[in-house]
Amino acid sequence: MKTAGVLALQGDFEAHRKAVERAGGRAVEIRGRAGLERVDGLILPGGESTTMLRLLNLEQLFEPLREFGLRKPIFGTCAGAILLARAVSNPVQASLGLMDIDVERNAYGRQVDSRVTRLEDGQEAVFIRAPIIRRAGDGVRVLARYQGDPVWVEEGLHMAATFHPELSPVSDAHRLFLERL
Ligand code: GLN
Repeated sequence: MKTAGVLALQGDFEAHRKAVERAGGRAVEIRGRAGLERVDGLILPGGESTTMLRLLNLEQLFEPLREFGLRKPIFGTCAGAILLARAVSNPVQASLGLMDIDVERNAYGRQVDSRVTRLEDGQEAVFIRAPIIRRAGDGVRVLARYQGDPVWVEEGLHMAATFHPELSPVSDAHRLFLERL
């Protein structure tokens, strides 16, 4: 069986590990460069992307992660999607640039910043201070939308979701990710 790594520096990595297991896969938490060598793909969890960036730099993981993404699948949710993007706004910050999407952080505003809802295709989606994908390049395929905006996308090896499929009882995204390993 292939192994999905879950970046475990910050955020809801434990929920991802459990979601991988619910989907029938094997997951290990990754905290450093050595761990990356042992996995077939990697999940970047939700959390706080600015904090994750700081920790990635501290652990000297930013560049190894980018190189990992040139060879193996990455699935980023929420803060993880922000890390995968080409450009980030509100405010501008560094990102891995592994997917041709531009995202705006905390884009749903303060009043309704978190909610459990249904996407246009009927699947449950949990949004927590979510970003909005403001631009998706020609090579990006939209897998789900909410209020007209792409919220789950794939491009080449990678996938990104602006919601938290790991917090729903059933996650199509985790199942699909495991198939890609
Ligand atoms: N608001 C967070 C950020 O900008 C993301 C929120 C999340 O991952 N749930 O990094």
